[in-house]
Amino acid sequence: MGKTTKKKASAKGSEPTPLMRQYYKIKDRHPNALLLFRLGDFYETFEDDAVVVSQVLGITLTKRANGKASHVPLAGFPYHALDNYLPRLVQAGHRVAICEQLEDTKTARKIVKRDVVEIVTPGVSFREQLLDPKRSNYLASVHWPEKSKNGRAGLSFIDASTGEFYLAEVDARDLKELIQTIAPTEVLVDKRRHDDIRWLRDLGVIVTPQEDWCFGYDFAYETLLRHFKTHSLKGFGVEDFPAGIVAAGVALYYLGETQKGRLPHIDRVNYFASDTFMMLDAQTRRNLELVSTLQSGQQEGSLIQILDMTRTPMGARLLRKWLVRPLRDLKQIHRRLDAVSGFVTSDFLRGRMQETLQTVGDMERMAARISTGRATPREMVALKTTLAAIPQIKSILADETIEAIKSITAQLTPCNEVTQLVGEALVDEPPAQLGDGGYIRPGYHEELDELRTIARSGRDWIVKLQQEESARTGIPSLKVGFNKVFGYYLEVTNAHKDKVPDDFIRKQTLVNAERYITPKLKEYEEKILTAQERITHIETSLFQVIREQVAMHTASLQLNARLLAMLDCLVSLAEVAVQHKYTRPDVHDGLGIEIVEGRHPVVEKTLPVGEPFISNSVSLDPASQQILIITGPNMAGKSVVLRQTGLIVLLAQVGAYVPAEKATLGIVDRIFTRVGASDNLASGESTFLVEMNEAANILNNATPRSLILLDEVGRGTSTFDGLSIAWALVEYLHETERVAAQTLFATHYHELNELKDRYGRIVNLRVQVKEHNGKVVFLRKLIPGGADHSYGIEVARMAGLPSPLIARAQEVLKHLESQQLEIHGGDAAGKPTDGPRVAAAAGMEDLSAAHQLSLFQVQDPAASEAAELLRSLEPNGMTPVEALLKLVELKKIVGS
Ligand code: ATP
Repeated sequence: MGKTTKKKASAKGSEPTPLMRQYYKIKDRHPNALLLFRLGDFYETFEDDAVVVSQVLGITLTKRANGKASHVPLAGFPYHALDNYLPRLVQAGHRVAICEQLEDTKTARKIVKRDVVEIVTPGVSFREQLLDPKRSNYLASVHWPEKSKNGRAGLSFIDASTGEFYLAEVDARDLKELIQTIAPTEVLVDKRRHDDIRWLRDLGVIVTPQEDWCFGYDFAYETLLRHFKTHSLKGFGVEDFPAGIVAAGVALYYLGETQKGRLPHIDRVNYFASDTFMMLDAQTRRNLELVSTLQSGQQEGSLIQILDMTRTPMGARLLRKWLVRPLRDLKQIHRRLDAVSGFVTSDFLRGRMQETLQTVGDMERMAARISTGRATPREMVALKTTLAAIPQIKSILADETIEAIKSITAQLTPCNEVTQLVGEALVDEPPAQLGDGGYIRPGYHEELDELRTIARSGRDWIVKLQQEESARTGIPSLKVGFNKVFGYYLEVTNAHKDKVPDDFIRKQTLVNAERYITPKLKEYEEKILTAQERITHIETSLFQVIREQVAMHTASLQLNARLLAMLDCLVSLAEVAVQHKYTRPDVHDGLGIEIVEGRHPVVEKTLPVGEPFISNSVSLDPASQQILIITGPNMAGKSVVLRQTGLIVLLAQVGAYVPAEKATLGIVDRIFTRVGASDNLASGESTFLVEMNEAANILNNATPRSLILLDEVGRGTSTFDGLSIAWALVEYLHETERVAAQTLFATHYHELNELKDRYGRIVNLRVQVKEHNGKVVFLRKLIPGGADHSYGIEVARMAGLPSPLIARAQEVLKHLESQQLEIHGGDAAGKPTDGPRVAAAAGMEDLSAAHQLSLFQVQDPAASEAAELLRSLEPNGMTPVEALLKLVELKKIVGS
């Protein structure tokens, strides 16, 4: 792709055929797209495009003659397979230009006129096959002004399938996070910004570099004004964001190019005030498993799965947005909570709302398809059904007293004209495609009715005419016939020739009969023969007019769609609250987090039957309990406590009820997480480096209003390095005013418990376990005080490691403990000293020199044999079954 193919063909010394010349001309205008070139019943691709298409789709690559002795590679598929193949090309990251025949092949004189009618790209599509009903499909664009004062960057994003259009200006350092929050499918960037193209690609989005001239302010501003037909952008409240305007102009221009200007549904641009939302970086979204799980990357097992009880696709899309962009504005949070409470308190109201919302279709995407001339008759009828829900919802909510619900209800408009028009004009169950006909309701258009009658009852009419004419003329043998030369005729045998009336026009003389036509017969014949053609024509044009009339209501439809989505989300949050026994949080704009008997919304639903979830209370207060150090054995439930605290805070700021008996929460500006070890080997970063990068990000951006969840920081390096870093980190968070965030720190380093005695706002907690008959029982309860050991070996035993190995580990542990590692903390002012590091390092040298410990330096012969076998194994080359068999063998060796 991308090269001027014309040159190639002529280089071979032969003139391309006229058809190929037409192809090259069109291809030259779309060098960066795969060109699907309509040839009769096929879409064909040529040259480099053909190679790509045949690879992506797994179809055969052939050759086509192109002028004298020259052949070009060719790959194509039947036109009706487009819905199947197009998504595969686009999902593979390609832009696809669809070039159609614009004339009837029968009437065209020379080569049929062709042109590109649509460019489909990953971020721009209206096609159902390419869109997930539960996700927005954003095209974004970014702009860094050359002499950016105050380091601000412009960002814009559009969902062409719904008409949402935003622009924003943000601190360039926050851009990455914001892009990750919005999660666009495709991003447009100035082609000169190579570094930015690289990091954006690393985020996993498709980057489409754009010509540098698109990024000029005047061009962008003009593009926006021309589209909105306004004199300025003041009416949209975005006039003062030049970098954002450039980004928006670029996005709109690109969209206009791909859609050939058909964008009437994008009728406004809004400012996206990112500072009104809680910032969540990608790690935090991932670690809290908001919309997908850490392990599988699937939605199954994530928060959204528990929370999404919406009934409409646009509701599901909005809920996702709410979840990844929790609010920071107290008033807005209370409004949502008020509305949710309205639906929580009345089961009846909620039930009726759910029943009605169930009948609501994707009005947001319907509106976009209607206004861009893409909607089918079936979609129009679906719109009518959806609109019918609005009066019902208005009546269900008529007596509602809660302001937030009242104001949504008041803005809903039934769009009666649309319902009436579609109801009168279209049948209740139209065929899926426009070409099939039969969708205009009988009685709507007189001529159409007549034509349909003719088409259906043409034969009956002929029989009737024969009878009528026979009676009128008194010729019993008169009959109506048909031939190709002059169509329908009346045939009279010679015996009755004299009875033929004056209005019969003779056409043909046979041996024993004469053939006639009459004006009436010809008129009817014309009707019968052309009826079907005209039916299709009339239906299509009537439908287009109806669609255009409905399209005039796009703005109301879009507003309705947004309001219905909101109601759907609020009802869904209420349903979740009732079903899962959540409570209304008390959110305030002070500081502090007080959760009484909180639960993890996902873990509590996924525990095996018979295993109850143990709730826990967490209390953070910047004045007295700023940092909670949580210790406890492996598997005790530390991570769960951390995550549930984050999720409860997040849910409250979404405006949702929370899984806790009571929650009093000061608004949080950001949640940071550093959870578990995540390798990023692909980008050349070790586990430890990733961990430190994340920690650095936290320390650079946290404020006293943030919530930090740290799980096992320092695990990626040697114990003593790790411990030292963890120790210093806690001190830093405690002592540096700027970042004195509310922090939960889960750790295996019980040495960190000593920090409590040195700093005033550190509290030690541990997850309770009970030892019973030498075994550990997890009680999962958070209690005051620090744990003094990890029970790691006990967990290893539970996991089924051979008993000699466990016994040896216990021996080694005893030995290590007898070394009595001493840790010294920071000085009184809290500045990190070399204490921990020096002490720890000294201890380590001592250990390693004296003992050279190895798990497999054991005396037990069975264990030696087991160790030998273990060494010989190649886990990477084994199937699960082979591994299982080896495990059985190992167990036999060690006699268990
Ligand atoms: P490690 O230190 O090994 O990372 P951890 O202390 O962080 O362990 P978690 O991952 O929080 O342990 O919990 C381990 C498992 O224990 C969870 O997957 C869950 O099945 C169960 N669990 C945790 N907390 C609770 C709870 N409060 N009630 C019931 N089960 C729980």
